[in-house]
Amino acid sequence: HAHRPHSERLYQEALQHIVGGVNSPSRSFKAVGGGAPVFMKKASGAHFWDVDDNRYIDYLAAYGPIITGHAHPHITEAIAKAAANGTLYGTPTTLEIQLAKMLKEAIPSMDKVRFVNSGTEAVMTTIRVARAYTKRNKIIKFAGCYHGHSDLVLVAAGSGPSTLGIPDSAGIPTSIAHEVITVPFNDADSLKAALDKWGSEVAAVMVEPIVGNFGMVMPKPGFLEDLCRLAREYGALVIYDEVITAFRFHYGSAQTFAGLSNHEAIKPDLTALGKIIGGGLPIGAYGGSKEVMEQVAPLGPAYQAGTMAGNPASISAGIACLEVLQGEGVYDEMNRLATRLTEGLASSAAQYGVPLTINQIRGSFSAHFCNHPVTNYDEAQDTDGEAFAAFFRHMLDQGINLAPSKYEAWFLTTAHTDEDIDLTLTAAHEAFKRMGSGK
Ligand code: PMP
Repeated sequence: HAHRPHSERLYQEALQHIVGGVNSPSRSFKAVGGGAPVFMKKASGAHFWDVDDNRYIDYLAAYGPIITGHAHPHITEAIAKAAANGTLYGTPTTLEIQLAKMLKEAIPSMDKVRFVNSGTEAVMTTIRVARAYTKRNKIIKFAGCYHGHSDLVLVAAGSGPSTLGIPDSAGIPTSIAHEVITVPFNDADSLKAALDKWGSEVAAVMVEPIVGNFGMVMPKPGFLEDLCRLAREYGALVIYDEVITAFRFHYGSAQTFAGLSNHEAIKPDLTALGKIIGGGLPIGAYGGSKEVMEQVAPLGPAYQAGTMAGNPASISAGIACLEVLQGEGVYDEMNRLATRLTEGLASSAAQYGVPLTINQIRGSFSAHFCNHPVTNYDEAQDTDGEAFAAFFRHMLDQGINLAPSKYEAWFLTTAHTDEDIDLTLTAAHEAFKRMGSGK
């Protein structure tokens, strides 16, 4: 398996034409020791085949959207049918109403929705709408939560939890970073300190209600309640970025997840969506209460548009994907397989003395190389990137495809089987064994 000459060659070729050889930096192998990423040529169900004809069991799920497995026939058929009827109209269609209704039914805090083309766009627009509604400019967000690559959310914490942010990318003006305050996740006291200082200027508190971007991290009991209460006390809106979490753990969002109680007290004003709701085609969506959403053009003064928004192919794929997820027991089965996997990983890691902290939430989990809990970004950063890189390469060489990042979750899909789990656990056992003996 370690043999991937065609990927090597294609990577060299890609480097000549595509910056860094990849169309998203997360796909590069920079964080796992560099070299050629694997060029895949075909995917079906839980499996990938690379250009060298190696087979892989996939737990990347394209960073989340592919929850039904690759090329699910129900979704593929829906896309083909949509394509045959024309891929882009620039007019309204009935399909958009159907998906909007499905989202509203599953996520009751959304009275009105709008479709866009990516999670980045969805989040970016929720911020504009919150600013239009509150007539304030500042945003509070949480360290390590990723909200796409727009200016306002690519801002890192300043020197303390209640200081203004600093740009997290070149090309972002300091003046924009100064509109953002970043505080630690799961820390209501820091949020309160930031609001005490800046509250009258804050348009919104934005959060991944269950974190998917520095591992899978649950909010501590009461954290989201405190967040919503504090935001309201200071007249700020609450924005949930559910781009990863919606339809991930159950048919619904974090706002309706049984793992979080008190749903009325954790209801957001605006929600950003993406990934799963497009069934593997480009999509984003945002929604919220009628009053807040009526800020959006053509009804209100906040402008947002999109040539590709609501295109029949993406919407059809999204509807078909949600239909698959409505199937009896699909989430329980992903949970069962993820549980088998995490139990096996924990036991092999323990056997070879490799520290591993697993956070499992239903059919998704993270595995950080450390021996302390991971409840916030500092704890996630304080994990062994080199150990992860070694594990990642041992797994890849045995045909297991993971995200090349120590923070990224493993995603089960409706296509994984017990046989996939058995093969993965055998590979993981071997990986931990090599790591334990320093190879
Ligand atoms: N929000 C969250 C929570 C995400 O995980 C991501 C993507 N990983 C985004 C927003 C951005 O979505 P997209 O890549 O579709 O722009």
